[in-house]
Amino acid sequence: MMKMDVISKFVGDQLSRWTLACNNFRALKNMKIKTMDIGGLQVKLQFNPARMISSAAKLTKEDIAARKCFLCRENRPSEQIMIKFEGRKGKKYHILVNPYPIFPDHLVIAMATHTEQSIWKRYVDMLDLAKKYQKYTFFYNGPRSGASAPDHHHFQGAPQELIPLEMDVDRCLTMKDPVLEQVASLQDAELYHYRRFTTGVFVVRSDTAKSAAKLFYRLRDCADIPEGEKEPLINLFSYYKDGEFRSIVVFRSRHRSHHYFSDGPDHLTMSPGCADMGGVFIVPVQKEFETITQELLSEMVA
Ligand SMILES: [Zn+2]
Repeated sequence: MMKMDVISKFVGDQLSRWTLACNNFRALKNMKIKTMDIGGLQVKLQFNPARMISSAAKLTKEDIAARKCFLCRENRPSEQIMIKFEGRKGKKYHILVNPYPIFPDHLVIAMATHTEQSIWKRYVDMLDLAKKYQKYTFFYNGPRSGASAPDHHHFQGAPQELIPLEMDVDRCLTMKDPVLEQVASLQDAELYHYRRFTTGVFVVRSDTAKSAAKLFYRLRDCADIPEGEKEPLINLFSYYKDGEFRSIVVFRSRHRSHHYFSDGPDHLTMSPGCADMGGVFIVPVQKEFETITQELLSEMVA
């Protein structure tokens, strides 16, 4: 409980001194929500106009090079405070409040130095975060799978039990539901294929971080790496629950679906990242929030 209090107090301190973040967190409480069934998972849609900044972000190499990195310490607003976190082998992170939240207590955990987004050798840091802050789920967007700063390594965090995919995976593990099909094991870790929502969803559960990491990197090595990329397109969630590590890996075929680029009635200004692929779809445009159908959303995550 103490550890939860550290973050809650930190978020409270931050919001009391940063008006922009405070207003965005307050707006979160009145956001319109809809629910839908996508491939057997009850998902939520959140109308969140403040997220336009992220959904429509320009992410080409030139665009990224032309802007000041908002995760680098020297470019952060003077109001932004942090908690330090020590990763393995001297890696240093700064825990920050996300000023454009999707969740209450929405965190960004930025590497202390400017270095590109990559899960290589950093997955275990995510597990350490999860063990230290046990009321939170940490997530990772691959550099081409929803990260709005692909040039500066970061994780995100939010309180547990807000993400529909995580909650259904927990239910399946407890009930031994065959929706989770075991496909491999390694020492004290098991790998499952989750047979709902979309095709490439896998779950790792493990007693130790070491076995979880071995199994995770083995899974990663099985997936295709698109030309020009250094890792498969993934969204990843890690958390610690009921005395064990749990990770959910969602393999993506692309970041933005054809709907993003369409000028027609099927246009969607949505750029799915972890929240969306966990079942909290962020819709920044009101008209799209009102007219989006189950079919369109299913196509987007396929
Ligand atoms: Zn940076």
